[in-house]
Amino acid sequence: MPEEFASHLVPIIETHATAPLIKEDSDEIGSNSSCITFLPLPSSFDYNKQSSWAALASEIQGWLLALAVSPKSPERSWATDCFWMAYLAAFPDFPRGQWTLWDPRINICETFAERWTMTPTGNFAIRDSVEHDETCSDSCDACIQSRRELWEEFTRHASLFYVDGPLVRQA
Ligand SMILES: [Zn+2]
Repeated sequence: MPEEFASHLVPIIETHATAPLIKEDSDEIGSNSSCITFLPLPSSFDYNKQSSWAALASEIQGWLLALAVSPKSPERSWATDCFWMAYLAAFPDFPRGQWTLWDPRINICETFAERWTMTPTGNFAIRDSVEHDETCSDSCDACIQSRRELWEEFTRHASLFYVDGPLVRQA
């Protein structure tokens, strides 16, 4: 973990991962998006809700750790960025505030998360113009703002590989 994050460590949930990272002898998935089990999103998904994003981040993490995709494959870096978008939407004040630990086998360096957390201005300037509430919730203005931005990022990014229909399952 980069030092910048270490000083902010406030884990609230321990996770124990047991799944192997890669099965060397397995076939890589192709660009067939039917392998992408975390999409489409459930019809109950609400990008304004912390619980929707936390569930999605957990699902993508499971996918990344269980699925036999090479660390260098485009699918893996794509899904890693999907994970970080969902994770950051679940914990918009990261690396401040409270957040759950993610599995350290998922990179943070050179991912969307690094760009998002390390860019004080530029694309993500709006994010920093609103203060988080003392205890973030679904009604924290800064969280609402970040989730809206991250939802836009996620929909754009997801469509790079997921082309099988609407991103959110129809009710
Ligand atoms: Zn907040």
